[in-house]
Order: sequence, then structure tokens, then C-alpha cells
Amino acid sequence: MEKLLTYNDYESIYLKFQAKAKEIAQKSGIELPNTYYRYGITKCWNCGREIIVFAWPKKKWSNAEPKLKPYPKTIQYQFSQTIGSKYWVNTCPYCKAIQGDFYLYCEPDGPFFGADIKEDSPEAFKEDMLTIALRASINGII
Ligand SMILES: [Zn+2]
Repeated sequence: MEKLLTYNDYESIYLKFQAKAKEIAQKSGIELPNTYYRYGITKCWNCGREIIVFAWPKKKWSNAEPKLKPYPKTIQYQFSQTIGSKYWVNTCPYCKAIQGDFYLYCEPDGPFFGADIKEDSPEAFKEDMLTIALRASINGII
């Protein structure tokens, strides 16, 4: 039987996630936002280093420009070979490789898998960050 998580479990997973994210952000010269831009931890598929990636409220597969400026510096408007047009993507702070949305959102080991990031409110931000932290814990990232 699956063990249900208590509030304290969530709290400790979230703290663990934040500590690790802070460490990676500092190492790679990235600032962690506390509004609008949700952040997750992933390994760059190209250089293999742990990096911070961002998600912001939007409709699924929409290519809308993020509303809050300045953007995190690794969010860029770039041409994607896979999609065949320009779109807003995460890039690696070390090697600049594009971190594709499909992996980030749709693969079970992706950092934003299961997070439905739609609403721009403090409550939705906290809820999404908890989902992302829980996913990182399930995936053995933290
Ligand atoms: Zn990289």
C-alpha cells in the first residue's frame, strides 16, 4: 500500500528541493524567482550538468511570450529544429543547449511532469512549486 504523505513530509521535501535549487542556481549564476516563474531541476541532455529550468503560466503548447520581465537569462526566443519555428525555451547556462518543452513537461522524469501551470497567483505558484518538488523527490533528483 502506498504511504500517504503528511503535511510535514511535504514541508521537508519542499525545503530539501529549495536547498538543492539554491545551490545549483548559485553555481550557475541564476537567480531564483519567487513569483510567476516556477523553477525545476534537471540535467542538461547535452553537457550532463544539473541546471535550473523555468516554467510560466500558459496554455499547453502555447508559444506566448512570458509576461514578467526581465526574463530569467536562460529563457530565450530561439529557433527549434524539432518544431521548425522560433519559440520561448529554456537553455543551459553552461553549454546553451535548448532544453525542449516535451522533455520538461511530458516525460515522467521531466521536472514539470504533472504540473499544470496555468494561473498567475501566489497560491497557484506555491501549489505548482510543491508539485515540482514532489516530482523531484519521486525522480530521485533531491
Ligand atoms: Zn548543458
